[in-house]
Amino acid sequence: MKYISTRGLAPKLNFEEALLAGLATDGGLYVPETWPTLDIETIADFKGKPYTYVAERVLSQFIGDSVEPQVLHDIIVKAYSSFKGPEVAPLVHMQGNHHLLELFHGPTLAFKDVAMQLLALLMDHALVRLGRRATIVGATSGDTGGAAIEAFRGSKATDIFILYPKGRVSDVQRKQMTTPDEANVHTIAIDGNFDDCQALVKGMFNHTEFREGVGLAGVNSINWARVMAQTVYYFTAAVALGGPERPIAFSVPTGNFGDIFAGYVAKSMGLPTAQLMIATNVNDILARLLDTGTYAIGEVVATSSPSMDIQVSSNFERLLFEITGRDGAKVRNYMEQLKDKKSFTLSADELTEMRQLFSARRVDQEHTAEIIRRENDRCSMVLDPHTAVGLGAAETLELGDTPIVTLATAHPAKFPVAVEAACGIYPEPPAHIAAMLDRPERSEDLPNDLTLVEDHIWARIAASKG
Ligand SMILES: *Cc1c(COP(=O)(O)O)cnc(C)c1O
Repeated sequence: MKYISTRGLAPKLNFEEALLAGLATDGGLYVPETWPTLDIETIADFKGKPYTYVAERVLSQFIGDSVEPQVLHDIIVKAYSSFKGPEVAPLVHMQGNHHLLELFHGPTLAFKDVAMQLLALLMDHALVRLGRRATIVGATSGDTGGAAIEAFRGSKATDIFILYPKGRVSDVQRKQMTTPDEANVHTIAIDGNFDDCQALVKGMFNHTEFREGVGLAGVNSINWARVMAQTVYYFTAAVALGGPERPIAFSVPTGNFGDIFAGYVAKSMGLPTAQLMIATNVNDILARLLDTGTYAIGEVVATSSPSMDIQVSSNFERLLFEITGRDGAKVRNYMEQLKDKKSFTLSADELTEMRQLFSARRVDQEHTAEIIRRENDRCSMVLDPHTAVGLGAAETLELGDTPIVTLATAHPAKFPVAVEAACGIYPEPPAHIAAMLDRPERSEDLPNDLTLVEDHIWARIAASKG
């Protein structure tokens, strides 16, 4: 399997190379050269099988001979042994045809663990095989940073640096990043917002001397391996609810478009899918796009679902590549317009295709709180605000008795203040998180200045080499 860039100007890579590169050298994102497909019998065979069995069969389609089958098997088993139970992503029936797919049973209580636990082991394996070290740098609005640090702490082949916006993440989120005491973990609080952090990381990737000097690698959701890992639970959920004989609908709380793009990939691989619902909070760039055909960047508004407080959905570029008929020049043109005028408009055909593939709904703060309150009253189930946005959007679908699966992307204890404000219940964290809350924190405060951040990273790497 080869990987090509959405902007058409970067070299083709194999899986391992795309994994380590993250972003392509032309600024694009890597996608498989062709979508692998699974026939209906293969998908039907997933029914009743363990999560790791399905993962092995789906992921090997994308990895090809880049990782030996036995090694891949061992990596998958190890990655998902850090989850609470062997189900990894259990389904819970709500009401009528509504179900929740709980993706928050990993070590940091958000769905980011599903991909990050696997990504870290794949990267370590590749680096050791190549006799290389890498410096991982990532920006986080809260959940990615903790999941990445948890996955890479203690790794012998990497140093990991996470930039987060100072004062803008929840206490639990911050402590997940600042309490691990392994020498390869470095947390940086930037005096700025998430977009500033992301711009600093982009700046480092675009600075060739720095990128090559430190062996920069990325773990943000632009990394193909993360999207790939997320396709698996679309298959396990669908077969548990009568797929592939019947189509299933999914509602996905969306920020950077990574998770829902994984649903599109599952569909492209042959999974019968009724609807893919893009659920957004008031940062609704994608819902506006489906309404009007124009992708226009607005102001980021802080909400109770902070992991979706994003205006530029990086992974949307992968879908843009598909709906333009995989035309790298068109994608480059749209991205230029976005940079220059903060917007672009899809052609009529592209918009029609987009609307055939997806629906989108925006769920505001009040409605989100109301859903948390209602479900607690109805069945004593406490939802996190991201999941509540997903359920609110799912409830607008009219699909008869087709099962609708809302992806439950975080544990409520990760956002206890917002949850308590909505329903009066303060969700208690599981024991391993509670134990972490009293541990000493380690973090460096830095201004929003690329040179200073790069200098800090150079110094830390030199120190850790002894
Ligand atoms: C990251 C995140 C999302 C958004 O996922 P994308 O892949 O960025 O669309 C939703 N909910 C939670 C809890 C998250 O951490």
